[in-house]
Amino acid sequence: MRLWNSLSLLFALFAAHCLCADEISFERGGQRIDLKGEVIATHEAGIILHTPDGKMWPIQNTEIIERTKTTAPFQLQTKEQLIETVLAEMPPGSQVIETSHYVVAYNTNRAYAQWVAGMLERLHRGFTSYWTQRGFDLQEPQQPLVALVFDNQDSFAQYGQAELGSAAKSVIGFYSMHTNYVVMFDLTGGAGGNSRRSLGIRDIQRLMSRPDFQWSLATIVHEATHQLAFNAGLQKRYADVPLWFSEGLAIYFETPDVSSSRGWRGIGQVSAPRLQKFQQAARESSQPFLPDLLINDDSLRKAATALDRYSQAWAVTYFLQKRKAEEYDAYLKELSEIQPLHDPTATERVRLFQKHFGVDLTELENEVRQMMLGLRP
Ligand SMILES: [Zn+2]
Repeated sequence: MRLWNSLSLLFALFAAHCLCADEISFERGGQRIDLKGEVIATHEAGIILHTPDGKMWPIQNTEIIERTKTTAPFQLQTKEQLIETVLAEMPPGSQVIETSHYVVAYNTNRAYAQWVAGMLERLHRGFTSYWTQRGFDLQEPQQPLVALVFDNQDSFAQYGQAELGSAAKSVIGFYSMHTNYVVMFDLTGGAGGNSRRSLGIRDIQRLMSRPDFQWSLATIVHEATHQLAFNAGLQKRYADVPLWFSEGLAIYFETPDVSSSRGWRGIGQVSAPRLQKFQQAARESSQPFLPDLLINDDSLRKAATALDRYSQAWAVTYFLQKRKAEEYDAYLKELSEIQPLHDPTATERVRLFQKHFGVDLTELENEVRQMMLGLRP
């Protein structure tokens, strides 16, 4: 009897603490989608479901048809299962390269994919040692990080269409919060049976060191930095971190470093194109930008204002990292704790910024301007 009691108590404890999977059926675009996963955030308007393949699905309550709790615990796919999932999403005949932290799936020249894998690992090492030296206790990603490398811009755009729409045709690469993948294409022109098929890793390295490749390369490093920030615990996917902050952080790491075999020297260098843009805008207008930058995420998304805004996001990040590192780290720590679907208001955003960097935004902005006008690209 006593044994039975303790057993049922154990069972009750298990049931109360079981990280059991949820089964959710919902309708989107006229289609029924059935998923099993773990609800990681809830809000009056909807939920976010984390599925075993590492994807995250924001689902509106109004889309949900059925929701049940299973008795089986939620489990993420193993590396082997994840590779199967990824290959099923790539064009037929695609292959993978596995490194310590990444799975690189590709349908292009293997040497190119190897070059990408090597670059990602070096960035990973640089990123990890940078934040560890700053005293951050980074998390190990829950699953291997996935990168997709398509053979050319067309097949890349075809894949990207579902998430980016027509914008997929005009970008070089992207990180998806939904899939958690970083997606790119072969910048050397792809395999496709052309003469570049025979390029070896050294030829690719030489090609990528050319000045005309630097901007494209910076974009890939930028996107891969987003992936690292979201998987190392600096940011949570779908949490409302100010956009200027995540973009500024990615730009801070984006300066390419193709030459060195050890370390990653691109961290925290002056970004020449961003600096030039900032200086040009600052000379043309003395209108304050900081108060709006802190709260207006759309201004970074709209084509008309994006370039100026990215340069300001970089400038503020550069200034804070170089001059107010401790305050920046404390601010970053607090931002990393924002939970998905619990969006701070604009006033709360400004207050949090002021809590760490002082209430006088005009004074701070003047210091940023002064520093930027004194820098050389
Ligand atoms: Zn970005």
